[in-house]
Amino acid sequence: MNVLVLGGGVVGLAAAYCLARDGHEVAVVERNHGVGLETSYANGGQLSYSYVAPLAGPGVLPKIPPWLLRRDAPLRFRPALDWQQWRWCLEFVLACTRRQADLTTRRLLRLAYYSRSLMHRFVEREHAEFDYAQNGKLVVHSDPRAFDAARRLLDYQASLGSEQQALSADECVALEPALRAMRPRIAGGIYTPSEDAGDCYKFCLALERILSANGAQFLLDTEIRRLLHWRDRIMGVETSAGVLEADRYVLALGAASPWLVRPLGIRLPIYPLKGYSLTLPVGPGHLAPRISITDFKKKTVYARLGDELRVAGMADLAGHRPDPDPTLLDETRAAFPEASDFSRLRPWCGLRPATPKGTPILGLTPYPNLLLDCGQGALGFTLALGCGRVIADLAAGRTLDVPLEGFELREARGGHRL
Ligand SMILES: Cc1cc2nc3c(=O)[nH]c(=O)nc-3n(C[C@H](O)[C@H](O)[C@H](O)COP(=O)(O)OP(=O)(O)OC[C@H]3O[C@@H](n4cnc5c(N)ncnc54)[C@H](O)[C@@H]3O)c2cc1C
Repeated sequence: MNVLVLGGGVVGLAAAYCLARDGHEVAVVERNHGVGLETSYANGGQLSYSYVAPLAGPGVLPKIPPWLLRRDAPLRFRPALDWQQWRWCLEFVLACTRRQADLTTRRLLRLAYYSRSLMHRFVEREHAEFDYAQNGKLVVHSDPRAFDAARRLLDYQASLGSEQQALSADECVALEPALRAMRPRIAGGIYTPSEDAGDCYKFCLALERILSANGAQFLLDTEIRRLLHWRDRIMGVETSAGVLEADRYVLALGAASPWLVRPLGIRLPIYPLKGYSLTLPVGPGHLAPRISITDFKKKTVYARLGDELRVAGMADLAGHRPDPDPTLLDETRAAFPEASDFSRLRPWCGLRPATPKGTPILGLTPYPNLLLDCGQGALGFTLALGCGRVIADLAAGRTLDVPLEGFELREARGGHRL
């Protein structure tokens, strides 16, 4: 079967990889001159299999008013004259219930553990170089009440397959000496040895190399403009390089996914949640963390990727323009003052393709030859291989290893009819 994958970010490439492994002829269409140059470029680098709880939860709503007043709040809202933004916010607020957050967490954990097994198989099989490390993750709490709540969650997470330990402040510093400057404000930490990290952009390049070596085509510098259909069948894609045709089409345009299918009557509840990162060189005299660290209160993540430190965080509901933000630098300097030569940092910003509930949108559409693989939000690198395998299994008509429940278009839109 010929399959056209629309979008050359980590999600599209992982789907292309899984489809190519099944023997399909695959082509990836991408508007940039290379793959992985948008949201998959300099993200947090966390393969965060056990930390998938959605942003929408019962504890979030009371925090929003004070966050709105702070420049360094982890979630910021800049209202725009954009109906899609307001609609997304309303659906987000409706998803902030205990029941919905638990349901979403369970579903995401299943998909994340599935993705972890596929990532481990990928690493074993492909010997790809992407600064991959199985170095564990330590979530550091500065609020004792938040730490107590996290400790109470340990048993629940363990029943779903997580192996985690609660550590005192001293145990946190013993495990990761680079935390010593942060020690006075640490109440405790939760350590998960089974978490991984890697460079998402290098992972994209590795997938491109593997795919090209196996005959896949890359149509770069090619802008997708419109899906052409006849009744309920997609007949082709109108692009800047002419009309492209295939037997099946996989939509993986990240935050740009909704506009392409809107003319077909498909509404995808995806809105860009802007995030920021810094990449800092780590030299021999520096004291930078080796294991992945999450500062729970500030929602900032730190990952060691080879001889660099990647810092990522913040979530801005602020439209589609990606521009950098200075607050991460102040935070990093305060947390890890000896981590790097801060004058050599590389700032970046990207648009998470976020859904209100925090679940990706996967699977079939009313157009049987169009499949959706989008809306992975803050977990696109973590979930890419699991989602890609689901897409390949759906294309082959195989039974899925993980249930699609909660990820389908119908449910993403709150159970309404199309
Ligand atoms: C600050 C930050 C930190 C993050 N940290 C992590 C993390 O630690 N772990 C994790 O798992 N995830 C993380 N994420 C989320 C992750 O980066 C995203 O979920 C993921 O990159 C989304 O991949 P994608 O392929 O869907 O989107 P993209 O990477 O944006 O790919 C979509 C592609 O479609 C192309 N495209 C769009 N429109 C068109 C068009 N009209 N024609 C042709 N091509 C088009 C784009 O050029 C782009 O290359 C983070 C995100 C941010 C912003």
